[in-house]
Amino acid sequence: MENETIAITRTFDDIEAATRRVIADIGGMQSVLQGARVALLKPNFVAGRHEYAGATTHFAIIKAVAAEVRACGVEPVLCEIPGTEFDLEATYQMLNLEQFCQDNHISILRLDPEGNTEDWIDIQVPGARILRHFRIPRLLSHQDTRLINLPVLKTHMVSIMSLGMKNLMGILPRPERRTMHTFGIDQGIVDMNLGLKPALTIVDGCVGQDGDGPLYGDRAQLQVVVAGRNSLAVDLVCCQLVGVKPRAVPHLKLALAQMGKPDWQIVGTNLNVLRPFRLPQSKGLYRFIFRLMFLLDYPYSKIAERGKHLCTTIYSSGLVGTRPQINREQCTGCGICVEACPLPDVIDLQTLKINYQTCQRCLLCYEYCPEQAISVKGFSGAQA
Ligand code: SF4
Ligand code: SF4
Repeated sequence: MENETIAITRTFDDIEAATRRVIADIGGMQSVLQGARVALLKPNFVAGRHEYAGATTHFAIIKAVAAEVRACGVEPVLCEIPGTEFDLEATYQMLNLEQFCQDNHISILRLDPEGNTEDWIDIQVPGARILRHFRIPRLLSHQDTRLINLPVLKTHMVSIMSLGMKNLMGILPRPERRTMHTFGIDQGIVDMNLGLKPALTIVDGCVGQDGDGPLYGDRAQLQVVVAGRNSLAVDLVCCQLVGVKPRAVPHLKLALAQMGKPDWQIVGTNLNVLRPFRLPQSKGLYRFIFRLMFLLDYPYSKIAERGKHLCTTIYSSGLVGTRPQINREQCTGCGICVEACPLPDVIDLQTLKINYQTCQRCLLCYEYCPEQAISVKGFSGAQA
């Protein structure tokens, strides 16, 4: 097997500069995009939480990658479908994604998350065990399109770590993701990576999360960026950086057994463990509930309105899941939470109620409340 080059650098000076450095260290963007017309950028926007929480890909990385892509005469196109329990348009709005993309000359590929349009194409995956065929954006099937994967270095309550291999789930339609959650997400991730090969993966460890990620874990402040062409090798190096044994991450253990261990050489900053990660604690129960919810979604989606899934309905009930709640006794009615909320008409200051149909659980209201009058309910790593 070919020796993979993995580039590592710190982001102390500047995140964009660090991103350009790792791209140069793996041989330059031109070498990644040879013969390409389009580069499909796949960030991690699982929900509308901001980059400083270590939950989503830092815009500075996307900006630097897009500039490098354009400098090669290739069009950068961004594509991401948030987690099934989050609304796509609300997530884009919360992140102010349209404005960011407009400012940086990046097109957005908007796809039907349910996979029912001509935008998707079904691919067969030889050697797959669960996900023998699945749909990908049609654009990705074009010979002159390259996939650039931009995940975040963080833990995950279901898959233990969320790195490059796992991040690709965000460009699959929601029914495919349900199949993966129901029939075995770990093998599903390996199968998906047999069919989808990014030309380049750049992992955002500017902040990152450990503990109960991928949304409400602890900010890790890693200040690192890792890049390479082989997703498995990149993920293994990231595990090393945070002291996680790859065999403790079920999909990486399966990948090592089924794909073989890649060899690599480090360029840039060769580092030891930056910060030993605390892995999610309640993963067994969380994984079980998540799996059950996706199993029950099969009959549910036959009777529900198109685009509605069981997890969307359960979360929007306001009875379960991570959610903010205003404590009347402590609230002074200052309105700061309403100003902080990136969505309109979610918090009602008259009744001090939160509309869980529209709340996207970013927890900005909780973070900004000067009176600590907002508590976080539900099973998650968020501080109550
Ligand atoms: S920010 Fe806190 S104190 Fe102010 S209105 Fe909102 S909940 Fe009440
Ligand atoms: S109410 Fe709070 S958690 Fe919900 S979207 Fe607004 S700021 Fe985010």
